[in-house]
Amino acid sequence: MRQLGQAVSQYQMIEDGDRIMVCLSGGKDSYTLLELLLAIRERAPVDFELLAVNLDQKQPDFPAHVLPEYLAAKQIPFHIIEQDTYSVVQRVVAEGKTQCALCSRLRRGSLYTFAKQQGITKIALGHHRDDLMETFFLNLFYNGKLKAMPPKLRTDDGAHIVIRPLCQIREKDIAEYAEMKQFPIIPCNLCGSQPNLKRQMVKQMLQQWEQEDRHRLDVIHSALQNVEISHLADAKLFDFVGLYADENPSIDEGLELVAL
Ligand code: SF4
Repeated sequence: MRQLGQAVSQYQMIEDGDRIMVCLSGGKDSYTLLELLLAIRERAPVDFELLAVNLDQKQPDFPAHVLPEYLAAKQIPFHIIEQDTYSVVQRVVAEGKTQCALCSRLRRGSLYTFAKQQGITKIALGHHRDDLMETFFLNLFYNGKLKAMPPKLRTDDGAHIVIRPLCQIREKDIAEYAEMKQFPIIPCNLCGSQPNLKRQMVKQMLQQWEQEDRHRLDVIHSALQNVEISHLADAKLFDFVGLYADENPSIDEGLELVAL
């Protein structure tokens, strides 16, 4: 709760009058997200609405009753969008190729469209601290970009703000919490897709680093919030061309002492 509260206030994720759509996949992260947002709403100084939304992608063995039963029992307002993105993914992605990229894109499209129709102001996703760091290293190793997953983001069409309130919480803690709460978890890979091997590899690399030094991931996470643009090399972000020595340089006391 403390880490969620910190993220919400640091990035001003929630404001008075917000109508927040909580995307619920049935995995441990999204159940945790919903539970914590419900709890924080009780004590928040601002008033906001939560609507849990699940996209039923029509995977063959998707247990469609699980989420409605869970949400109705807890009296949480919800909506299930039914859209057969499963067949599209099966048709379009070549056999043996990972389907998750297209599947996620289609899922995002359906959710954003629904959000637009419903006058949603914020879309909350359940990505956690490990997701952010894994994405950072995936972009570094495979895309040649220094880029992670932002805690708050405006969608490409400018219509929505996406928030990631779990962005400071470790996956391990979420897994423990989900276990403790006994959420009725629905596995994501019902579609039979292969796991994303590159992401798996990065995940293992981070786990290995944490075994070697239990603070290393904390340090990396801090680094993502502490960027020195002038000490990287992107001329689009920092004006290296216009950089000249100061005509009236400040006195460096260390150098003065050496001179003495
Ligand atoms: S595992 Fe299946 S359902 Fe989950 S994102 Fe990948 S393709 Fe989609």
